[in-house]
Amino acid sequence: MQSKGAWRKLRRMPISRLANLIDGHHVPPLADRWLDVFEPATGEAFAECPDADASDVAVAVAAAQRAAPGWAASPVERRAGLLQRLADRIEARLDEFAALESRDSGKPVRFARSVDIPRAVSNLRFFAAAIEAWGSESHAMALGEPNHGAINYTLRQPLGAVGCISPWNLPLYLFTWKIAPALAAGNTVVAKPSEITPCTAALLGELSIAAGLPPGVLNIVHGRGPAVGQAIVEHPRIKAVSFTGSTATGAHIAAAAASRFKKVSLEMGGKNPAIVFADAELSDADLDTIVRSGFANQGEICLCGSRLLVQRSIYAAFRERYLARVRALRVGDPVDEASDLGALVSKPHFDKVMACIAQARAEGGEVLCGGEPATPPGRCARGWFVAPTVIEGLANQAATNQQEIFGPVVTLIPFEDEAEALAIANGTGYGLAASLWTRDLSRAHRLGAQLDFGIVWINCWMLRDLRTPFGGTKHSGLGREGGIEALRFFTEPKNVCIRY
Ligand code: NAD
Repeated sequence: MQSKGAWRKLRRMPISRLANLIDGHHVPPLADRWLDVFEPATGEAFAECPDADASDVAVAVAAAQRAAPGWAASPVERRAGLLQRLADRIEARLDEFAALESRDSGKPVRFARSVDIPRAVSNLRFFAAAIEAWGSESHAMALGEPNHGAINYTLRQPLGAVGCISPWNLPLYLFTWKIAPALAAGNTVVAKPSEITPCTAALLGELSIAAGLPPGVLNIVHGRGPAVGQAIVEHPRIKAVSFTGSTATGAHIAAAAASRFKKVSLEMGGKNPAIVFADAELSDADLDTIVRSGFANQGEICLCGSRLLVQRSIYAAFRERYLARVRALRVGDPVDEASDLGALVSKPHFDKVMACIAQARAEGGEVLCGGEPATPPGRCARGWFVAPTVIEGLANQAATNQQEIFGPVVTLIPFEDEAEALAIANGTGYGLAASLWTRDLSRAHRLGAQLDFGIVWINCWMLRDLRTPFGGTKHSGLGREGGIEALRFFTEPKNVCIRY
């Protein structure tokens, strides 16, 4: 209930202006242009964020460059300690962060409080601990005579100033997932949160100063992708770019980075299958997880299973059990503790999801539930809510089953046997995550290897261990984040060979 209080306090605040964080100072955009930030639950603007451009990025990169040698030279214990202090400060204001995240993105505050913000804290703590535990390799060589040999050891050196660009769906969660390993590894950062959900990153920026991060180590520039994001990618002093967002933007970034020979890590879209076999023996809790895998965060998680493949022999019975649960989901005011789904993040995204549902109907899909805007009463009457929607009757080749919708829309697809399930699951241009429900261990192992996705969950979904590699195949990603993979990305390996 504390969070409700925090949220009420935020609601009473006048429209506030966020600032860029450059060289340890909060500064307005040089061109003095601003973007409205909307509360999706009401459709009203409640803040303004800088509409910065390449000139702001240039100042931020210069600050990051100045700070880079000192930060790289600081002992790992110091870097780790500062990240832990930042995590402490966020944790101490968890309710406030959750209320702000919910207000900015439309997600239920319950979700922000239990998933987004705790995970942001964990990201900082995890990479603080990881960098302290990280070692490097050495390779001893014999040169054919006694006492003649060489020792090679690998230095993992920070890259310098790097760029981190994050999306709107899990704003602070994904922002910290990038800046934490970059900073831990000794890089300085120019970061750009999504202009649609900039608030919690701005608050983190404030706390980073209070936590003692030296000026210029973390710089945050707010604004639109083609202006700020593009300028970060193209800046000659930015050595690497870690990006999470849509495949279209990722392709654009990859092209811009290629000719400049920059390292890029791209985490992009998905069209993930959840596959239910007749032998799955689903408990109620399993079914809840399958429902969550489609509708958590209004379906706005890159890992959501939007294609639900069900073996034909249990299809009819499964569909009834599943639909009963989906119909029971409560779409409501994000501040209401009882809401399972909140609002979609923006009017354009709401329009896109509604257009996808219309397209599904036009393709011959039958809408089994939802399929329309939802209208919670009271202050949310003009918000961007969509009822959880389940559609059946579409072939896997239908556009609805090929394009990422990124909303509360799941299609049901029956299959006969394992071979058909595999063909349907892999029959997409994306390859982020698959989940599989079966009691057959051999099948689980077989399909775990054959599913062309970067992540395969067996009898679970979104069970994350931060040490594991995270990322997608095909159009879902290039490179891996998570654990040591992220530390590798943000460092340059150098071999030093000493002959004796
Ligand atoms: P988006 O691609 O529109 O924007 C992502 C970020 O890139 C934003 O900060 C945006 O301002 C910036 N950007 C836009 N154009 C740019 C350009 N030309 N140069 C540099 N930066 C630019 O994505 P979105 O709509 O914010 O997020 C939703 C997408 O993110 C979905 O496709 C979803 O699947 C994907 N996503 C993927 C993962 C993953 O881990 N694979 C996680 C979350 C979201």
